[in-house]
Amino acid sequence: MAATADLGPVLAVSPHLDDAVLSAGAAISALTRAGRRVVVCTVFAGDPVPPLSPKAVSFHAKCGLGDDAAPARRAEDAAAVAALGAEHRHLDFADAIYRRLGDDWLVTVSGAHFDPNLPAEPDVAAAVGAALTDVLDELRPAEVWTCAGIGGHVDHRMTRAVVEQVRGDVELVLWEDLPYAIGTPGVAFGRVRADAGDERDRERKLAAIAHYRSQMGMLFPDSSWRDGFTTHAKVRVDDHGAPELLWHTAD
Ligand SMILES: [Zn+2]
Repeated sequence: MAATADLGPVLAVSPHLDDAVLSAGAAISALTRAGRRVVVCTVFAGDPVPPLSPKAVSFHAKCGLGDDAAPARRAEDAAAVAALGAEHRHLDFADAIYRRLGDDWLVTVSGAHFDPNLPAEPDVAAAVGAALTDVLDELRPAEVWTCAGIGGHVDHRMTRAVVEQVRGDVELVLWEDLPYAIGTPGVAFGRVRADAGDERDRERKLAAIAHYRSQMGMLFPDSSWRDGFTTHAKVRVDDHGAPELLWHTAD
């Protein structure tokens, strides 16, 4: 049997600065504890080009962030990913809330970034594809993980679609997007990945999540995020046999 380090790295492609850790943090922890190299590459981690839209200004206010929102979030992510024993990469694409569409903003009204009828952004998708191809060429991962796109955020949908396009013959594993799927019955995108870590990995995941101060305050205004993730893991073990749902798409 090959040593764990010889199996090749796992590349986890995260749409935003938090998604991989929130959704698959325990599974990532289990891999790195076993000696496996894991690289968490976040696509929409770039700086916005000012001026900001009213929606972006209001988002920063909800997160308690100022003009340095993007660098502050990159620092949170670097600390969170390191807490799982993984490496981070940050691509410089702008989050949907910062992007323009023609003469207007892509996101103009509350929740618009979840609208399945948002116009396609082929130029952005092509540039993301080129950047991820460079990362794949450099790392030559044994597996590539990304989000299933549950919840329908436009950046999550684009990330999955682009990864599916550029991964070549590298095995694809999809994760259940959290916190979007919390409180939902759970769906199936393939065979559930067996190793999603143990209690120690779930504790390590919570410690990593604590680094995302700006995001947890916004996502869980009542400070209930620890309970939210812990309860969800228990519900998934009972109903699906694993505390985090990741699916092998090949079989
Ligand atoms: Zn996200």
